Amino acid sequence: MFNKNKTYEQHDNEKISFYRSSVLDLNSKEHLTSDIDIDVCVIGGGLTGISTALNLSKKGYSIVLCEARKIGWGASGRNGGQLGIGMRKDQYTIEKKFGLTHAKELWNMGLESVEEVKTLINKNRIDCHLVNGVMSAACFKKDLEDYQFEIDHMSKNYQFEGYKFFNKSEIMDEISSDIYLSGMLNTGSYHLNPLKLTIGLAKLIQKNNVSIFENTPVLKIVEKNDKINVYTKDALIKASKVVVACNGYLDNLLGSNKNKFIPINNYIIATEPLGEKKAKEIIRNNYAVCDTRFIIDYYRFSEDWRMIFGGGETLTSKFVKNSNNFVKKRMFKVFPQLKKYKIDYSWGGTLAITVNRLPYFGTSMNDKLLYAFGYSGHGLALSILAGKLIAEKINGESDRFKFFSDINHLSIPFRGLLRRPIYSSAILYYKFRDFLNS
Ligand SMILES: Cc1cc2nc3c(=O)[nH]c(=O)nc-3n(C[C@H](O)[C@H](O)[C@H](O)COP(=O)(O)OP(=O)(O)OC[C@H]3O[C@@H](n4cnc5c(N)ncnc54)[C@H](O)[C@@H]3O)c2cc1C
Repeated sequence: MFNKNKTYEQHDNEKISFYRSSVLDLNSKEHLTSDIDIDVCVIGGGLTGISTALNLSKKGYSIVLCEARKIGWGASGRNGGQLGIGMRKDQYTIEKKFGLTHAKELWNMGLESVEEVKTLINKNRIDCHLVNGVMSAACFKKDLEDYQFEIDHMSKNYQFEGYKFFNKSEIMDEISSDIYLSGMLNTGSYHLNPLKLTIGLAKLIQKNNVSIFENTPVLKIVEKNDKINVYTKDALIKASKVVVACNGYLDNLLGSNKNKFIPINNYIIATEPLGEKKAKEIIRNNYAVCDTRFIIDYYRFSEDWRMIFGGGETLTSKFVKNSNNFVKKRMFKVFPQLKKYKIDYSWGGTLAITVNRLPYFGTSMNDKLLYAFGYSGHGLALSILAGKLIAEKINGESDRFKFFSDINHLSIPFRGLLRRPIYSSAILYYKFRDFLNS
C-alpha cells in the first residue's frame, strides 16, 4: 500500500545538494512557539507559498508562513532549473481538450508566468543566473514531424515565433552528443539556480513583514466559525485564510485531495566544475536541454560550469539514497566524455503529477482555505503564477483563479490505494515504449 506520511521528512538524511551549497540559508525566525491571530497563514516555503505571501504582503495583509523544514526544502530548491513557458502539455493537446479559446488563455498565462519571474529577478536584483534558451532534443524519428507541426501551429495560431528547428547535424553542433536526431529550441524559456531564486524571494517577503517560521510543520487544519485553526507542534494559528502550498509533499493535510495527484521522486547529479571552455564544447550556447522520452533526461550547466544532470524515476515510493549511480549511467549514455569528471553532488526531490498534467487549484472551508499543486514537472514558473492568482482570489478578484479551479481533474481511484501500482505500471509501460521507439 502506498503510504508515505510526512513526506517532507524523507530528505532529512540526504547529503547537501549543489544548490544548497551555492547559497546561504535564509535564517528565519526559529520555529513558532506562541499562539497568533493573523489574516493569512501560508503552509509551505516553496515558490507557491512564497509567491502567495509576496503578492498578499504588497496588499497589506498580515501573514505568517510555516515551513516544515527550511525555505526551499522541497522541489523549489531541488529542481532542474528550467523556467519554461506554457503548460506541461503541448498547446495542440490542450486545445483538443478545452477548445482554442481556453487553450489560448492557458498559453498566455504560461507566458505571463515566465515574464513575472524575469521581472521579479530584474527588479529586485536577485542573483540567480538567468540564462536564455531551452532545447528539446529528439530521441525518436517521429519527433521531427512533431517539431515541425508545433513550430507551424504555434506561429499560425498563437503568433509565437520563439521556436527554432535544428536538424541532425545542427543539433550535433549545438550539443556534443551523437544520440539526438533533431532539436527544437525555445527562446521564450530560460534556466537558473532555483534555490537562489527561492531564497531571494523569501528575503523580499521578510522585508514586507511576513513572519517566516522554518522547522514548523503544520499538523492539522480545522475550520472554526469564521476562522481556521492551524495546529503546529507548539502553537495555534488562528487565520482568516489559509493557503496550502505543499505540492508533492502534501501527504494527508488536505484529506482526499491527495488523490488528485501522484507524488513522484526524481533525481539529479552535479559534476565537478568543468570550466567554461569545456562546458561550451558540450553545450555550445549554454542552453538547458530536455529530451523527448517519457522518462526524460534534463540538464544544463550551473553558474560555475558543473553539469547538472537530472533524470530517472524509480518504481518504488521509497526515496533512493544513492541515486548517483543510476543518474550517472544515464548521463554517460548521452555524454561518455564526462566519465573522467567527479560527481560532487547527488540529490532528489518530490513533485506532484496530475492525470491531465495541468495544475490543480481549489478551495474548501467556505473559500477560507485555498490550495494549488500538481504542476507536473513544469512548476518553476507556474508555481509563482499560482501564488499570484491565489493572492488575487483572496483579495476578491477570483476570475483568473477560477480559470484553473474550473478545470476538471480525475482522481486516482480507490482513495489513492492504487496510485502507486498505477504509477509503477505507467513507468514500466513508458520505459518499454521509449525502448521500442528508439
Ligand atoms: C527533481 C525535480 C526536478 C524538477 N525540475 C523542474 C524544472 O526543471 N522545471 C520546472 O518548471 N519544474 C521542475 N520541477 C517541479 C518544480 O520544482 C515544482 O513544481 C515547484 O517547485 C513546486 O513548488 P511548490 O512551492 O508548490 O512546492 P515545493 O517547493 O515542493 O514546496 C512545498 C513545501 O511544503 C513544505 N511542507 C510540506 N508539508 C508541510 C507541512 N505539513 N507543514 C509545513 N510545511 C510543509 C515542504 O517542506 C516544502 O518545502 C522539478 C521537481 C523536482 C523534484
